[in-house]
Amino acid sequence: MSDDRPVLIVGAGGLGAPSALILARSGVRLRLVDDDRVDITNLQRQILFTRDDLGEKKVDAAKARLLEAGSPAVEAIDARVVPENAAEFFAGVSLVLDGTDNYATKFMLFDYARAAGVPIVSAGAVRLSGWTMASFPQGGPCLRCVFEDLPAGPTATCAEAGVVGPVVGLIGALQASLALRILSGQENEVRGRLLRYEGLSGSIRRSSPLPRKGCSSCADPATYLSTRGYAPN
Ligand SMILES: [Zn+2]
Repeated sequence: MSDDRPVLIVGAGGLGAPSALILARSGVRLRLVDDDRVDITNLQRQILFTRDDLGEKKVDAAKARLLEAGSPAVEAIDARVVPENAAEFFAGVSLVLDGTDNYATKFMLFDYARAAGVPIVSAGAVRLSGWTMASFPQGGPCLRCVFEDLPAGPTATCAEAGVVGPVVGLIGALQASLALRILSGQENEVRGRLLRYEGLSGSIRRSSPLPRKGCSSCADPATYLSTRGYAPN
């Protein structure tokens, strides 16, 4: 990769594990942030880890494995990204890959990435289906053009509703593929594409949502962030 800045991966779980492994094998520097430990119940989908890692901090187990896989440098940060600390993790990165499992954090990461001027590859997966799309600092469509905001009412996370291991493996791999294309200068081929995988039918659909008129994030990401009620530092 010509870009020597690290890719920030938030979450070393079902999405972050496969995407980190693929990016490491592609020789990408990584900054991995997670505050969780390896648990027996996640081993079926978190393919970075084995039984030998049970009870270990995910970032510690992941760092050793990602260096072995070929990443030239891995910053492993044992933390949860919250509004109070978000900005520091975005400093100096080439792009952000969202491997988290809840929508509130996904929108928060998206808002900070845009305000920091870095592309972000968002994704979600619950039960048998998943999606991914990349958003860029300028212009739409962006994540908020497509989803606008948190779905009304309770939303299922993969921790609550469950997710089938191959679904997050596939979505994580698609995220890594989008990230590698952005790092290779193919932004225009990636921009505006929403990829959805439906596990029951086994289909991957690509759609091209239009920028949403009146999307406040597209109009001015920094101002939008300041109106969200987060506490940027
Ligand atoms: Zn937008």
